[in-house]
Amino acid sequence: MSATAQTTTEPQCVVVCEYTACLSRFGEPDPYCISFLETCIKESFPVYVIGQVPVQKIKAMVGSLAQAVHCIGNDSPQTDESCECSAAVCIRNSILPAIGDETAILSVCSHNYGCCIARFSDVVFARDEAAAYCNAEKIPHYPYSTMFDVKRLFTSKVLHGKIHPRNKARLLRKDAFETE
Ligand SMILES: [Zn+2]
Repeated sequence: MSATAQTTTEPQCVVVCEYTACLSRFGEPDPYCISFLETCIKESFPVYVIGQVPVQKIKAMVGSLAQAVHCIGNDSPQTDESCECSAAVCIRNSILPAIGDETAILSVCSHNYGCCIARFSDVVFARDEAAAYCNAEKIPHYPYSTMFDVKRLFTSKVLHGKIHPRNKARLLRKDAFETE
């Protein structure tokens, strides 16, 4: 992101990581997760890590980044807008009210809890249930296996390329809380 972009009041793009996407498939913290989050912060992307676990567990996982990362857990205040995901902590409801209509979303999802944000995202990294959902719903996404892949693709495709806003995602963001 260029230096001039940081002077705008509304961030151009936020990074939203589902908590389970930050873990390996064995449930351990993914060793590359912190490195990916650090890169996002260094590049001035606001970062959210959201999970169906207490916020302290998320803060413990991000460790020294806890001050810089927005951590939202199942004990954080939630809006009660209806959503197809039926998760206790709806990622869409946690993120959309917190950002502007024109702010792009980059999401990293693995569980089906993350699916509702994928639909509203301009760039999606997905594995497992989230990848199956994106395939079924024809949502363009980058498949990944570990956070190493996410960091590599983020650096090569997002930082050194350009985020192509998905008009469909932007329109959905505008409509999300107007039609309910
Ligand atoms: Zn939802």
